[in-house]
Amino acid sequence: MDLKKIERIEEKYYANTFSRLPVAITHGKGMYLYDVNNKKYLDMFAGIAVNSLGHCHPEVVKTIREQSKILMHTSNWFYTLPQLELAQLLVKITGLKKAFITNDGTEAVETAIKLARKTTGKREIIAMKNAFHGRTLGALSLTWGEKYRKPFLPLVPKMKFVEYNDVDALEKSITDKTAAVIVEPIQGEAGVIIPDNNYLKEVRRLTEEREVLLILDEIQTGFGRTGKLFAFQHSGIKPDILCLAKGLGGGFPIGAILFSCKDFEAGEHGGTFIGNPLACAVAKTVIQVIMEKKLVKNSEKLGSYLLKELRERNLNARGEGLMIGIDVKDGRKSVLDLIRKGILTIYSENTVRVLPPLIIEKKHADQFLGAVDSVGL
Ligand SMILES: *Cc1c(COP(=O)(O)O)cnc(C)c1O
Repeated sequence: MDLKKIERIEEKYYANTFSRLPVAITHGKGMYLYDVNNKKYLDMFAGIAVNSLGHCHPEVVKTIREQSKILMHTSNWFYTLPQLELAQLLVKITGLKKAFITNDGTEAVETAIKLARKTTGKREIIAMKNAFHGRTLGALSLTWGEKYRKPFLPLVPKMKFVEYNDVDALEKSITDKTAAVIVEPIQGEAGVIIPDNNYLKEVRRLTEEREVLLILDEIQTGFGRTGKLFAFQHSGIKPDILCLAKGLGGGFPIGAILFSCKDFEAGEHGGTFIGNPLACAVAKTVIQVIMEKKLVKNSEKLGSYLLKELRERNLNARGEGLMIGIDVKDGRKSVLDLIRKGILTIYSENTVRVLPPLIIEKKHADQFLGAVDSVGL
């Protein structure tokens, strides 16, 4: 099928929500994706930091096959073991006290907002300028930017924004009405914005001092993306609430919050599909493979290699682990140039975002760097 025809089908039948890149993908394996004409691409964005194990990882495929033969869904009227096993594993690896599973990232943020309101009795939440926390109305209220917000105003009241990476501004904005502060350890959608080394530590100190909850949104930075299992581990701190999704399911839709603050009461929160056995079994496998194959170490190693090589090319590149941003004149144009060379990346305005699967090897990194050279980023 040719791309023009696919574009016409989308225009006629699909909501006009995405500004797609001109590739129709049919299948993938490991680090590679293939389009309708069987053209092969190196995947350097992992479905927006999601496909941590690459495509169709044999352990993931096996888990889906085996779990789907026994049980996919029963709702939360009953106990199911994969949900509780995943919760135990998440508690163990994060060091927080309890877990709640969600269907995706924005729902993790919604849950965090409700829990922050419930456990503090307060309503005000402070987010950062240029933050991205999702698109449902609650999460959107904490997301920065006219393009996301303006058509949908009014949003949830009492949400306010302060400058990212500015502890003094945050300190001034906390009041006795503040329930929580929500922060991305590295701002992803904003274009891989990395704060100063001591920023998170200072935010933790301040939120503790002022007795407000710290919600970390690690939906993009979690599960090895930044060269630690969780980005907060670079700072030696712990949040009160941790939002997770993207890399958790390795491509299967699932999210979670972990929390050490007070809990909900029965009936206050829930969802039909939440924590279904199939998604939970897959997430458990993904975490186990990340640990067994030492992919967090690989993220740190290949990330440093890529960053060093990009900087040696005099590119304005920044990153932590396999979360890398490269400044360019026009993000979309550079991404289109790379597509012509068989490389898939994504962009935020003037930044090309490089977020490859954690299974990346040096030969893939070199293939990417070769393409960077030949398009002259
Ligand atoms: C992607 C993302 C979200 C939203 O997650 P969805 O699963 O797309 O709803 C929230 N916060 C951050 C930091 C993200 O990167």
